[in-house]
Amino acid sequence: MKIVVLKFGGTSVGSIQRIKNVAKIVISYLKKRFKVIVISSAMSGETNKLVKLTKQISDNFSPSEYDAIVATGEQISSSLIAGRLNDKGYISRSWLAWQVPIFTTGDYSHSRIININKKNILKFIRKGGVPIISGFQGINSKNRITTIGRGGSDASAIMIAKFFKAQKCIIYTDVDGVYTTDPNVVPKAKKIKKISFEEMLEMASLGAKVMQPHSIQDARLNRIDIEVRSSFKNLSGSLITKRKNISTKNIIRGVSFTKNDAKISLIGVKDKPGVAAAIFEPLFKNSINVDMVVQNISSNKKETDLTFTIKNEDLTKTKKLIKKNRKISFKNIIIDEKVSKVSIVGVGMITTPGVTFRMFNALARKNINILVISTSEIKISVLVDQKNLKKAVDVLHKEFKLDY
Ligand code: ADP
Ligand code: ASP
Ligand code: MG
Repeated sequence: MKIVVLKFGGTSVGSIQRIKNVAKIVISYLKKRFKVIVISSAMSGETNKLVKLTKQISDNFSPSEYDAIVATGEQISSSLIAGRLNDKGYISRSWLAWQVPIFTTGDYSHSRIININKKNILKFIRKGGVPIISGFQGINSKNRITTIGRGGSDASAIMIAKFFKAQKCIIYTDVDGVYTTDPNVVPKAKKIKKISFEEMLEMASLGAKVMQPHSIQDARLNRIDIEVRSSFKNLSGSLITKRKNISTKNIIRGVSFTKNDAKISLIGVKDKPGVAAAIFEPLFKNSINVDMVVQNISSNKKETDLTFTIKNEDLTKTKKLIKKNRKISFKNIIIDEKVSKVSIVGVGMITTPGVTFRMFNALARKNINILVISTSEIKISVLVDQKNLKKAVDVLHKEFKLDY
């Protein structure tokens, strides 16, 4: 059986016209004798609306009820797609995660899919049906509805492709592939024909929203190639695959960035063993993700300064947690609410000397001050003022010969 998994993102199912277009794409695969499994996201904007509702009730909305609400957007789009296919004479029906079921593990709002019951879906496909499965959701061992992180329908699609041994897994979205940087921000961005799991994972984790980072981890672990294509234009897309399949040898594959970060510096922190752990423990317990961390070498061996970044939306909560933390003492706290992280990503930097220098030099030429630096094997990130973000992305994109 030739199975293809087609995932449609929020914009691709964002209106009735677009739902009709999704049905057209599905039918084109049926005509090529594929068995099709569709994964749908909620219509664009719907999940955000649902999140807002929970916030209007409480800042500490029950995590299990939060998932029960935010998972509902996918029910509408899945049924609309199935309804349109029925209307066109095809056998189709919608499936919510609990009806499949799709089993997850882990905390609410960022669970991970661990198992999928294939029986009923397979039976339906064999009869010629097209199952439309709601992305982003699952159930846990307590039989409660879970969600798998914002943008999580990508991971739903990868895991469905794994369990059903699909020949293809295609992510249909509003851009026609993975670009060297966000094409909606930098018009000179170029489409990347093939990109490795490693580079895609870094680019996604560092802000390239086109794929959810967990979905790439799942794809890499299970060796599932992913095609990213546009649902609006019939153009060739990008292939996310293993490094061996890629011959182009760019030093830098792309530039990623985040928009809404905040930087917190604690000045004059008592320097003793365990102090960093004491600062971050309450943040961890409140699911606040700390990103870049820098601690200065203490000049007097008594006090040090510690700087870290978080998402801007977590700032109010973080300030509160630091203020009431009795395990730490410091002289001053400095907060910068408008910073952004810009990163260059590429496996080529492992073997090419001078990449760091070129990055810093290019930023210096444009008078862009670097606030914090962090590196790993295949990426270099810098924190800059938000007002310098676009300028920084443009100059790095050009410096590493990525411009169209
Ligand atoms: P969907 O709703 O289909 O899941 P998303 O909005 O999650 O779509 O992701 C697609 C968006 O990702 C694009 O509209 C684009 O602005 C953004 N994006 C960011 N970085 C990149 C990149 N490197 N390549 C392509 N798109 C990117
Ligand atoms: N609808 C969910 C979200 O907005 C999942 C997804 O779009 O993939 O995060
Ligand atoms: Mg997405």
